[in-house]
Amino acid sequence: MKALYLKKGKEKPIARKHPWIFSGAFIDFKSKPEDGEWVEVFTHDKQFVCTGHFAPGSIAVRILSFDPIKNKGDYYQQMILAAFQYRASIGLPSASTNIFRLIYGEGDGLSGLIVDHYNKHLVLQCHTMGMYRDLAMITNALRALPLEIETIYNKSEDTLPLKGSDKKYSGFLLGNTPETKGLENDASFSINWVEGQKTGFFIDQRNNRKIIGSLSKPDMKVLNIFSYTGGFSVFAGRAGAEVTSVDVSQKAIDLCEKNMELNKVEKHHNLAVDAFEYLKDMPDDFDIVVLDPPAFAKRKSAVHNAVQAYKRINAMALNKMKKGSYLLTYSCSQNISKQLFGDTVRAAAIETGRNVRIVKELGQPEDHPKNIYHPEGDYLKGLMLYIE
Ligand code: SAH
Repeated sequence: MKALYLKKGKEKPIARKHPWIFSGAFIDFKSKPEDGEWVEVFTHDKQFVCTGHFAPGSIAVRILSFDPIKNKGDYYQQMILAAFQYRASIGLPSASTNIFRLIYGEGDGLSGLIVDHYNKHLVLQCHTMGMYRDLAMITNALRALPLEIETIYNKSEDTLPLKGSDKKYSGFLLGNTPETKGLENDASFSINWVEGQKTGFFIDQRNNRKIIGSLSKPDMKVLNIFSYTGGFSVFAGRAGAEVTSVDVSQKAIDLCEKNMELNKVEKHHNLAVDAFEYLKDMPDDFDIVVLDPPAFAKRKSAVHNAVQAYKRINAMALNKMKKGSYLLTYSCSQNISKQLFGDTVRAAAIETGRNVRIVKELGQPEDHPKNIYHPEGDYLKGLMLYIE
């Protein structure tokens, strides 16, 4: 492996175990590693510090181990088995849930790699060229798990440098199935990873969808805005509520329709419209409203505008909500902290003059574990609010 040397003293922050090293910490890049190449990092006086994937951007090294790595294949076998064993320890997969995140990047010590499990199919997303270059070793390690796996699909076209412009980063690594029916807490979902957004499903809302299932009652009206394929709607509908799902994507709404049928939900309305337009004339008789927008702040420079957008949608909903109703509101922007999100929702409440109680703070489920040294991994924030 090529060596990179840190400037004097720059090893100290690394002792705090944050898995990223920024380019400014290095003396130089004279060894010229390629994008995605494994490198060994040393102090200025040649003491070993860690090993990881190199990238030419501001995050120059994503640390994969604080020990020297002799065999990369063995490394992936161990790390991927450990990720599986952790999921097994929290009861995943189970008879009622076979949709879960098997590998959550830094949360599993594998910065740059996401693997989602849908029934007997795995969908993998590389966020670094390092993980992309190592796909053969990763695939071998996944196939060695004590899991029945028919398909491994690599869906990295939106997460690697060429972005959506070239499909060459995506493709089947095993099998050729594009979709399946999966189970989440006994509800069925049709998931298509080739056509769908992200890896096909937003697994991170599992615990929050369970909450809406227990909050919903047969005489209630539930509104799910930014519904995607109807995750929250299915749980509200299975509890007997009348559900309205709103998403700008016709494809998502079509799949939402399919998921409602799969779960025999009869009282539902699916609308392929813009959420901001819908909110303008939103009816005022909903008992529960869910607001789960896409990440408005995909980069730091977008935070200001994102805050305005979060404030606007929350104020629009709060304005129309009836007394005694619940709002479940979320942000999945990594760049918006829990504090900032809370402040933004408070600003929306102030603007509307409504009295609002925070019932619960919500977040991501156990299969999205947060590496204690990597606070950025705590990206999903939510509030359950009671409107007086
Ligand atoms: N709650 C969903 C996940 C939501 S993802 C679940 O549990 O599965 C965010 C969704 O917002 C996507 O489906 C995207 O199509 C939709 N979206 C993005 N911009 C929108 C807009 N302006 N109006 C309505 N929907 C929008």
